[in-house]
Amino acid sequence: MKCPICEGDMERKKVPYTIGSVKLGTFEADVCSSCGEIFFTEKSSDAIDKNAKASGLWGLEKKGKIGYSGNSLIVRIPKKVAEFMKLKKGRGILIKPEDKKRLIIETE
Ligand SMILES: [Zn+2]
Repeated sequence: MKCPICEGDMERKKVPYTIGSVKLGTFEADVCSSCGEIFFTEKSSDAIDKNAKASGLWGLEKKGKIGYSGNSLIVRIPKKVAEFMKLKKGRGILIKPEDKKRLIIETE
């Protein structure tokens, strides 16, 4: 099999898969020895889906918009995310911009 991106040689390997900081496990994938692109096998993709669902992280991603409150901007946290993370009003958080497109919110 050749890499569909750069036509390099593919190698079958066990590759770790994570969502955020949660490790879902290692899965069989074809990895390009030239550009490093990873293609999980169909069996691996199914296993990843299954593990993601079991971890409770499945379907938590949601689109939203930044709102306004006084002088601050506010971001609403969807109920499902709040429940998953056991967030409650008054809980301390640390807001860390990673770059100009990514914001990390850590709970205390
Ligand atoms: Zn490649």
